[in-house]
Amino acid sequence: MSIIKKQKLIIAGPCSAESEKQMLQTAKELKQVDFIDILRAGIWKPRTKPGGYEGAGEQGLKWLSKAKEVTGLPIAIEIAKPHHIELALKYGVDIVWIGARSTANPFSIQELSDELKNAPVEVLIKNPINADINLWIGAYERIKMANVKEIGFIHRGFTSFGNAEYRNAPFWQIPIEMKRLYPNIPMICDPSHIGGKRSRLQKIIQKSINLDYNGIMVESHCNPKVALTDSSQQIKPSDFMLLMNQIEWKKNSTDKKEYKDELETLREQIKELDNELISIFGARMQISNDIGKLKQENNLTILQTQYWDKRLNHLLQAAKKYDLNTSFVKTILEFIHLESIRIQNETKIKKK
Ligand code: PEP
Ligand code: MN
Repeated sequence: MSIIKKQKLIIAGPCSAESEKQMLQTAKELKQVDFIDILRAGIWKPRTKPGGYEGAGEQGLKWLSKAKEVTGLPIAIEIAKPHHIELALKYGVDIVWIGARSTANPFSIQELSDELKNAPVEVLIKNPINADINLWIGAYERIKMANVKEIGFIHRGFTSFGNAEYRNAPFWQIPIEMKRLYPNIPMICDPSHIGGKRSRLQKIIQKSINLDYNGIMVESHCNPKVALTDSSQQIKPSDFMLLMNQIEWKKNSTDKKEYKDELETLREQIKELDNELISIFGARMQISNDIGKLKQENNLTILQTQYWDKRLNHLLQAAKKYDLNTSFVKTILEFIHLESIRIQNETKIKKK
């Protein structure tokens, strides 16, 4: 029976296994939070710079397997090198996850896939650190070749320069697209690495539930203040329980007739508007093509910066009337403008 296929799956445990005492204490406290399904711990830690705590290695696996014995919970670790898999199996690890840095590296993924061949473990694949959906898909395809028991995804956010709100920007459109491409593969949210701070966990967890994710993986430590890694994002097991009491789980379908009827009416309205949007784009780009010809005939640059600046400001101002988010409108307008420029660049006129 698959462990990771469970709905409302909750994985929790420390960022790193640090000592037998810390591991067992955390595991026992988490066991008291009776909705935990899987105990996690980092055994080998991918540190950005040398000199930090790099994990307990094989010793940590001994502590973790003891924690499994004491709590009866299945255990999960990160694997980054082929020999990690051999050790994981030796110590009865049930689930392994592939970290964000490994997913970004096809060489690593191929080596892990070769070693995982028919291994009796379930595998969770974190998104790559860079926002490239194809690396995530490629990792999935390579791991699938290993014929493991079960595969799932973990969304942990993406490196993004200058983003103050998150440690790793969520870019929700990427996991949403993965869910569309692989509707039967569980999608788990890792709010700890997205948020980077305890105070951000609740909002991110609720958002992932609203997006119909299948579960969450949260870093939890018996004493986060003294944690050797990711101290500010780990949460005490008892606080995790309080936090989860504030989370509202949602269902993704219902038989209630009034709801279905009203949803249908609203969706019809959206359908009409979306169809109109597409035909407006078509008409607009046709005109862009005509403008392209005109500029070419008169030997003028495609970009007219002053005019673009004036139009952009005018439209941003106009959008305020409709209560539209300014950065949304700006993004859309910039996209349209770029496409218009592309079309004008490709416009061909017959040379006389
Ligand atoms: C972790 O889960 O502790 C971890 C290192 O995660 P990531 O690969 O997402 O950085
Ligand atoms: Mn961590």
